[in-house]
Amino acid sequence: MQLVKPTILLIYTGGTIGMIKDSLTGALKAFDFKELLDNIPEINLLDCNVATVSFNEPIDSSNMNIEHWQSIASIIEENYSSYDGFVVLHGSDTMSYSASALSFMLENLGKPVVFTGSQLPIGDLRTDAKENLITAIQIASLQKKGKPIIQEVCLYFEYKLYRGNRTTKISAEHFNAFMSPNFPELAESGVHLRVNDTVIIKQQHNKKLIVNKGLDDNVFILKLFPGINKNALEAIINIKNIKGIVLETYGSGNALSEKWFVDILQKAINNNIHVINVTQCSGGTVSMGQYETSTKLKNIGVISGFNITTEAAITKLMYLLGKNVSSSVFKTIFETSLRGEMH
Ligand code: ASP
Repeated sequence: MQLVKPTILLIYTGGTIGMIKDSLTGALKAFDFKELLDNIPEINLLDCNVATVSFNEPIDSSNMNIEHWQSIASIIEENYSSYDGFVVLHGSDTMSYSASALSFMLENLGKPVVFTGSQLPIGDLRTDAKENLITAIQIASLQKKGKPIIQEVCLYFEYKLYRGNRTTKISAEHFNAFMSPNFPELAESGVHLRVNDTVIIKQQHNKKLIVNKGLDDNVFILKLFPGINKNALEAIINIKNIKGIVLETYGSGNALSEKWFVDILQKAINNNIHVINVTQCSGGTVSMGQYETSTKLKNIGVISGFNITTEAAITKLMYLLGKNVSSSVFKTIFETSLRGEMH
């Protein structure tokens, strides 16, 4: 029997979950956290103690930026030893980016950080918010021999727990709004909460949490399309202070093989701009050299993102640039899975 109840810190950043309709415009806007909690008295029935903290100004997650990620990381850092787990209430629009960013920022994480939100506000009769929130808290409180079972940044939505940095938002309509195309679910909520023990991260050593807050935003995502022209590509690589580009290519990492295209990328790489190859496909992996159309990219030193999501690639790029990883090892480190985000 569990004698001491786990303690969970609920961090409210904003999102639909806590929004109401503006009576004049009809548009959804963030509202008071206290009112949000009043809508879920069930929280008091849970087998854990829940404390709460809120952004001073809750935001629609479309306004999410590096400073907000730093704030979430700081809240977790300051409260790390006092809580057994953390639940981050967040808008669904950029939740996969935030979960990815936090996965890199929180090094040696030994406790659960579960992102969740909802498609409908918590006050709506048909809301998906209650199930998402309550189960997210339960997941964050799962323990075995007094230790948290989940020890990574994850995302819970519509009965599924995913590794955060493997997710992507796929629907603005369905309650089932996320998927993890290249990695199995960490847990599923049915009659029972079933954790997939074979895939969750288990911290082997009790290393101290390191919180990396220095992210570099001199990055860009470029999605290829048939007809892309030289001016457009040149403009991108000439962005002031640009240090890294995530290049969304076709299929298994293929791109046009025209000379101007390869030459411009080569010039960028020679100028110390890191170019990461990720695929536009939702599933599968980049495999440079499989087709002639990716061999040239491989030869000029483009970095493979393997099966990483764009969300995880751009945040990993910000993180490694923020750490000032030297150019000589940047490719090797990027191509290594740091938080279970690739391969
Ligand atoms: N626009 C909202 C947000 O991301 C959507 C949501 O929460 O589902 O904040």
